[in-house]
Amino acid sequence: MQYDHILIRYGEIALKGKNRKQFITKLQENIRHKLKAFPNVKVKRTQGRMFVLLNGHDPDEVMDKCQQVFGIQSLSLAIKMENEEEAIKEAALFALINADDVKTFKITVKRIDKDFPIRSQDMNKVLGGHLLSNTEGYTVDVHHPDVEIKVEIRTEATYITSSVRPGLGGLPVGTAGKSLLLLSGGIDSPVAGYLAMKRGVEIEAIHFHSPPFTSERAKQKVLDLAEQLTQYGKKVRVHVVPFTKLQQEIFREMPEAYAMTIMRRMMFRISEAVCKQESILSMTTGESLGQVASQTMESMNTINEVTNYPIIRPLVAMDKDDIIKISHQINTYNISIRPYEDCCTVFVPKSPKTRPRREKVNQFEGQHDFSSSLEEAINGIEVIELTDDAATTTEFDDLL
Ligand code: ATP
Ligand code: MG
Repeated sequence: MQYDHILIRYGEIALKGKNRKQFITKLQENIRHKLKAFPNVKVKRTQGRMFVLLNGHDPDEVMDKCQQVFGIQSLSLAIKMENEEEAIKEAALFALINADDVKTFKITVKRIDKDFPIRSQDMNKVLGGHLLSNTEGYTVDVHHPDVEIKVEIRTEATYITSSVRPGLGGLPVGTAGKSLLLLSGGIDSPVAGYLAMKRGVEIEAIHFHSPPFTSERAKQKVLDLAEQLTQYGKKVRVHVVPFTKLQQEIFREMPEAYAMTIMRRMMFRISEAVCKQESILSMTTGESLGQVASQTMESMNTINEVTNYPIIRPLVAMDKDDIIKISHQINTYNISIRPYEDCCTVFVPKSPKTRPRREKVNQFEGQHDFSSSLEEAINGIEVIELTDDAATTTEFDDLL
């Protein structure tokens, strides 16, 4: 006997009607994609659950992969048996003997198939008795057992599980539309992308690159970050914007104290143009309130004036420590701290306005025509598609 299935539980409580169906279909599709390196596995669904048939593949390897898929609440190794008393007894005994470091146990039977002749309570006793009389050194503890052996008697079969591993939670990527992630080489924006994905959002990325002030390595760093994010969402297309000319023009033509604000407004204008081209309905940034000069309330108000697209800011109320913690968990931290300059660190005004007012900024922008440089930047965009084939895998334990 062996564990031949993985039982996948998803939180469906908040989902109704059409959403629920879409959730389940996407989840199944995303699990299948994640397990594409295991040719024999089958991903099946039954009422309220999903199952992975291992067909000989290593259970732990497959579990690790499943633990990176958003939308899974928890998962367990399971043995599938026919709905027959002796077979179930045998499997429950196997589950107990194969659980590590266990002295006390509890059996929980759930009889979903009402044609099965023994009621849940009675079956609990039958199985408990069977385990006690066929082993030594174990006792029953219904309150704090070392292991809970769950027996689900369903119409098609009975599933026996012991340990439960947590999943990532969230919603399956692809159920919440697409967002354009403004991806710098910093610590914050990859984390923002990860958290948006956790709510089911599919990500495309945009990066503003200013060669020769920013190097090829700075660009590669951003591509490496995007590749890391593909672990959670199959692929990420990165739009690399040639930003040098526009940036130089801003710093030449605009008052230095306002250059940062105006540069950010240009980023949003270009990002919105890309959204329109690609039919993307929102943008996501790594902004966190009060972190730097451009992230004060006044700054956000003035920068945000140029677009009425929704801007998702998953980090807006988070502390830096917590953001850093997540960046370690998703393996982006070590990429983010590579020392290559980003366009915003190269062009830094000595004393940027921390409270730039809309009226002032509009007045300055009105004194110069940026349209041809803006257009040039948009027309010069290079699109690079990254897939999860090369992304390194995060150990799931790090994610908790
Ligand atoms: P990060 O760690 O993400 O770089 P930050 O704390 O450095 O954030 P800012 O430099 O103010 O903050 O940038 C705020 C946000 O603007 C970033 O999180 C990112 O979403 C976007 N952004 C900044 N620079 C770029 C860039 N060169 N390309 C694309 N997006 C950028
Ligand atoms: Mg930055």
